[in-house]
Amino acid sequence: MARFNAFYLNLNQSYLFAEIRRRTKVFTDAHPEVRLIDLGVGDVTQPLPAAVVRAIHEAADDMARRETFKGYGPYVGYEFLRAEIAAHDFGSRGVKLAVDEVFVSDGGKSDSANLQEIFAQDCVVALMDPVYPVYADSNVVAGRSGRADDSGRYAGIVYLPCTAENDFQPALPDRHVDLIYLCYPNNPTGAVATREALTRWVEYARAEEAVILYDAAYEAYIVGPEVPHSIYEIDGAREVAIECRSYSKNAGFTGMRLAYTVVPTELRGRAADGTAMSLNTLWTRRTAMKSNGPPYIIQKAAAAVYTPEGQKQVRALIDFYLENARIIGAGLAAAGFTVYGGRNAPYIWVRTPRAVSSWDFFDRVLEKANVVGAPGAGFGPSGEGYFRLTAFGSRAQTEEAIERIKTRM
Ligand code: PLP
Repeated sequence: MARFNAFYLNLNQSYLFAEIRRRTKVFTDAHPEVRLIDLGVGDVTQPLPAAVVRAIHEAADDMARRETFKGYGPYVGYEFLRAEIAAHDFGSRGVKLAVDEVFVSDGGKSDSANLQEIFAQDCVVALMDPVYPVYADSNVVAGRSGRADDSGRYAGIVYLPCTAENDFQPALPDRHVDLIYLCYPNNPTGAVATREALTRWVEYARAEEAVILYDAAYEAYIVGPEVPHSIYEIDGAREVAIECRSYSKNAGFTGMRLAYTVVPTELRGRAADGTAMSLNTLWTRRTAMKSNGPPYIIQKAAAAVYTPEGQKQVRALIDFYLENARIIGAGLAAAGFTVYGGRNAPYIWVRTPRAVSSWDFFDRVLEKANVVGAPGAGFGPSGEGYFRLTAFGSRAQTEEAIERIKTRM
């Protein structure tokens, strides 16, 4: 019998969202008459922008004609899209990127899970805590974590606690680390990083020869004029940071699957013998080995996001979800809850009532208000005592969910 990767046994019992689904199913099986409102999993609900839909139709027509048909595309994505990304997402903010620093993929989830594989197994990993669970899990199965204790904390991972007490801004590690996962705007807390805070991280990474994996999946939600949109707005970041973005939450592509990762050419890692090597070269090699590129039709759809019409429609989508976030935040605050986030992010981070654990609060909200949220503890040990709601519902669902929590809890 083939031996399997035993590091999989180190993973915490179940993936957070699988456990949310399981508990929700137990509840609906017992109460089939109840109409639940799901503000748990961060999935969008509004249809694609019209400019995107038109591009999908046109690209489908390309595939129907011999002269414009496309087979395998470039491993790293089509140049027409990578050039738009470099010009619009970065050039417009004064950040210069070359097209071959942009790698288009089928999702931020796969990128953020896969990036660790170009680093050595004995690299020390630091994570914001709480944060998107994929960073921890992908390092667990790569053998960097050891087993978790009862609170779900892995011995081999350096946690960077983000709580109300430190304004959700983690302190720098008090030891050497090699890989640092930062997620801003943060899922789940909704916090953003100031220019000064990001500068401290870049300086730390430069001093320690560490690499920052900067996940900016929610960049489009930044409205504060003082908040940096990209880590490359910070001097020296090109030598220490990889940045991931996604079309899921700005243009509604969760079901379309498209994202990209930027690996600057200055970024270096060391071989076991100390020789420095370009991580862009390694990531290019890895991508050529594992991907044949995302579908042409989907990349054409993403390129439509950068047309003037697409930009306007995407802005309207984001504003719609941000208004949901405002409604949730204001409603819960009026009901006496302490709430965070929701201003530059589509997530509202709620303090659970005193002495109520986040899973107990999840169950209570499910049973009393028939609303599905996400327990903070599922995002890391420092998420205990918090609860997350997403702004991705319809307006009617959002308003009703808040009304139910206000009146029934
Ligand atoms: N990164 C963060 C921080 C996320 O919260 C999510 C999805 O919820 C992703 C990445 C995944 O994005 P994608 O849909 O592109 O895989």
